[in-house]
Amino acid sequence: MDKVEIQAPYNVTTEGWHDWRWQMRKRITKLDDLRDWIHVSQEEASAIKQLADVYRWSITPYYASLMDQEDPSCPIRLQAVPSLGETVLSANADIDPVGDRHYRKTNRVVHKYPDRIIFLTTTTCPVYCRHCTRKFHTTDLSSESYFERGEAVPWEEDIAYIKNHPEIRDVLLTGGDPLVYSDQRLDRLLSQLRAIDHVEIIRIGSRFPVLLPQRITPELCKILSSHHPIWLNTHFNHPKEITEESAAACDRLLRAGVPVGNQTVLLKGINNTPEIMRRLMLGLVKIRVRPYYIYHCDNVVGVSHFMTSIDEGRAIYERLQGFITGFAVPEYVLTTELGKIPVPREYVRRGEAEGTWTYENYKGEQGLYQE
Ligand SMILES: *Cc1c(COP(=O)(O)O)cnc(C)c1O
Ligand code: SF4
Repeated sequence: MDKVEIQAPYNVTTEGWHDWRWQMRKRITKLDDLRDWIHVSQEEASAIKQLADVYRWSITPYYASLMDQEDPSCPIRLQAVPSLGETVLSANADIDPVGDRHYRKTNRVVHKYPDRIIFLTTTTCPVYCRHCTRKFHTTDLSSESYFERGEAVPWEEDIAYIKNHPEIRDVLLTGGDPLVYSDQRLDRLLSQLRAIDHVEIIRIGSRFPVLLPQRITPELCKILSSHHPIWLNTHFNHPKEITEESAAACDRLLRAGVPVGNQTVLLKGINNTPEIMRRLMLGLVKIRVRPYYIYHCDNVVGVSHFMTSIDEGRAIYERLQGFITGFAVPEYVLTTELGKIPVPREYVRRGEAEGTWTYENYKGEQGLYQE
């Protein structure tokens, strides 16, 4: 049978395309609808069927428009379309390998480091990334999640916890995606947090700039800027995601005084080559987004097929460090029960004679430093 040429049902000239609520309503959640966008491979179709009762999936029309129609190994497809890899239970995989449930203090507060907490807002995201490290929280249909009492319960108890812990000076709103909230609801939450004297900074972890940049409206930016200092970290994983729209969304945030950082996950088949990582990091600094972390992919149930080895991660990282603009190189970390651990090898080692150190630069050239 000849392949039918695909005419995606919507594009940038469609009425509603620039309205984030329209994008949320028109999310693709059915195999037949996905066929309007791409030639779905047999493997993808079978994964969608097999995982129908296991994991959520949904794709915004905007993110779908970035997918390659023919190539199942397209980095956007790999992040958004279910795959059979998710059905494989790999050795040592865990739903919560970094033990965040252990540190959960209230329905929404995870308190692992002394001075900062994560505040879970929701289980909803515009696109359910197949590699989500909180897959059991955001995507698992067995409804197991960090929320002990659901996401509908009011946040009084969580705010009270923060009030009662003066050591908390940094609150990181995460989820799910906090920008799923309406402007009004977000404004209310930010106001309540701002009313606590010891909360110095508020951070938002959101993938909207990548998955649905239309969410970053002037109205939202105005609300954010009325609660400063607000910082935002987003999650670009591949240079293909740096589009005119996503760049414009980051620009709006930056002009509202919100510093925008990026957290990338090292993912097999998506960005595990030095060339792609380099293009990604350089592309980010071109749109004034500061690379913050590269996360080593955790052995999360349903995500293991994206893992690389630490040796591979280091080899990629060592092709960035020193070779490109210093601030285009994020920290490469492993997330563990004990916190985030820097993975790079040591560049400075104690020398044989007292007060001496041997060092190695990015090209492997060695030298001796004397104190
Ligand atoms: C990552 C993380 C933070 C924030 O850590 P930073 O290194 O300051 O970005 C806070 N709490 C938890 C539980 C985390 O996993
Ligand atoms: S947007 Fe973030 S929290 Fe939501 S599914 Fe993707 S990685 Fe997970």
